[in-house]
Amino acid sequence: MIEPHGGRLVNRVASGEKAAALEAEARELPVSQLNPFEVSDLEMLASGAFSPLEGFMGHEDYARVISDKRLANGLPWTLPVTLAVNEETAQALKKTPRAALADSNGARLAVLEIRDVFPYDREAESLAVFLTANDDHPGARYVASRGNWLVGGPVEVFRRPNAEEFSKYRLDPADTRRIFAERGWNTVVGFQTRNPVHRAHEYIQKSALEIVDGLLLHPIGGETKSDDISLEVRLRCYEALLENYFPQDRVLLALNPASMRYAGPREAIFHALIRKNFGCTHFIVGRDHAGVGHYYGPYDAQKIFSEFGAGELGIAPLFFEHAFYCRECAGMASQKTCGHGKQSRVMLSGTQVRAVLREGGQLPMEFTRPEVGAVLHQAFGQQQIGQGA
Ligand SMILES: [Zn+2]
Repeated sequence: MIEPHGGRLVNRVASGEKAAALEAEARELPVSQLNPFEVSDLEMLASGAFSPLEGFMGHEDYARVISDKRLANGLPWTLPVTLAVNEETAQALKKTPRAALADSNGARLAVLEIRDVFPYDREAESLAVFLTANDDHPGARYVASRGNWLVGGPVEVFRRPNAEEFSKYRLDPADTRRIFAERGWNTVVGFQTRNPVHRAHEYIQKSALEIVDGLLLHPIGGETKSDDISLEVRLRCYEALLENYFPQDRVLLALNPASMRYAGPREAIFHALIRKNFGCTHFIVGRDHAGVGHYYGPYDAQKIFSEFGAGELGIAPLFFEHAFYCRECAGMASQKTCGHGKQSRVMLSGTQVRAVLREGGQLPMEFTRPEVGAVLHQAFGQQQIGQGA
């Protein structure tokens, strides 16, 4: 089994008497309230999905991640994992060694051991991470909305956030690693998605699956931009696809509780390291991975892997082109494998997909499996979903 990043799978979930003691302690501590984005980071920290991180970043890790794409100890790490507070809360937290962390409803979830309270430059962070501080970028907009101080230190979680929702798909890194071992998978490819899976994605997943033992279909379960399709609808699309078009013993569907940053290349590395912690040996990186708008070049998320030594990341990226159905080839292909012209290709943009669904039409079979189309069709009919396909 592949080693977690940093060599050891972190576990910051307390149970039994320890959890009860922390919960009692948390009732007496000053409280810092987390937004849903920070709660999903807390969940990732607790389960070891962010190994080797044991808590929110202190200044040394934070500064080196921004400038060098590494933790203070030199391990590759490309995105900040931080807890932001306003000035008033920062001054209060400076005076206490421990604080309770609560969700946006005020429910206490964890205890934070405060090691560092420091001011930071939000615009500089966005310029380094997203290559823009423009308000049109959802990641930069989020960073600009946060408090201008950061609080760092290890966390201990006594109540798992979001534990009830979609619980069947909430598998921790320790769980997926156990399942991979039980199934005898030595090599596993991870697939990151925040969108319904169309045939182009299925083709890429299956191309990768030809050379490894198993596929971890690992959709984002945390915060995404408001126009991305709801998690419930996406899960029903994945279920429809897996049930009808994959061998059941070669695929595992589980949620990645992380929130989307839309940091393109830096997020591609981040996504790969997370999947390594979940036990994947390979990770699919498509064109414009984790991109948004036109802030990154189409291949930047693939090129960034060459900035690290192969052994440093410890997980092998698999680079893919956009795929499509070609009428001349009579099958799925990409520009690497098909020499026919654009007129032979069945490709729909997100805008076109939405237009078809809004008008009550059927998506072409060459583009979307009918079982997946039916889920989207029904969801659009109920107006449960916004834009983005
Ligand atoms: Zn062709």
